[in-house]
Amino acid sequence: MARYTEAVCRLCRRENQKLFLKGDRCYTDKCALERRAYAPGQHGQGRSKASEYGTQLREKQKAKRYYGVLEKQFRGYFEMARKRHGKAGENLLDILESRLDNVVYRLGFAMSRAEARQLVLHGHFTVDGRKVNIPSFLVKPGMVVALKESSRSLEKFKANIEANSSRQAPKWLDHDVANCVAKVVAVAAREDIDLPIEEQLIVELYSK
Ligand code: SF4
Repeated sequence: MARYTEAVCRLCRRENQKLFLKGDRCYTDKCALERRAYAPGQHGQGRSKASEYGTQLREKQKAKRYYGVLEKQFRGYFEMARKRHGKAGENLLDILESRLDNVVYRLGFAMSRAEARQLVLHGHFTVDGRKVNIPSFLVKPGMVVALKESSRSLEKFKANIEANSSRQAPKWLDHDVANCVAKVVAVAAREDIDLPIEEQLIVELYSK
């Protein structure tokens, strides 16, 4: 399973935006973007104004990086989104939101989507009562996502749940915090997705 393995803070610096890829560290002054708010590399401080294509490309890269998805899979999601009814850009974000690793992150079981991916891979979660260890598994309305009973007492989860206790699950997830269970009650509407992504730019890029 392919994944990005370089230093992730470079990705935030490249987008000149916090992508919150490192959990706790992102909220401290150790954040690389706080210290060096310019693109990485030899020419990072001397970039000129982006072209229309450049702006669209950066928006697509940003979305991929938020969700930890590589190009081939992202393109696949876009094709899926285009075939659905409604706006392709909003459908794309809905598909990305419905990935199991994102759901685990949204529910506060992990400090970042990268950590959520690891936790899913290690088999800590069930969907409709059956273990699912595929981070890209797409949940649908009606499905129930739960932290496995045997994992609930692990220090890792206790710490993450405590650290994220002030974070609200999105409206499309009916979260029973005490029982570490959530039901997917709807598809994610655009207004429920708090990421600063201009999805229309991604549609324009892929429509060229
Ligand atoms: Fe991005 Fe987090 Fe690294 Fe800051 S600490 S640059 S927000 S991944």
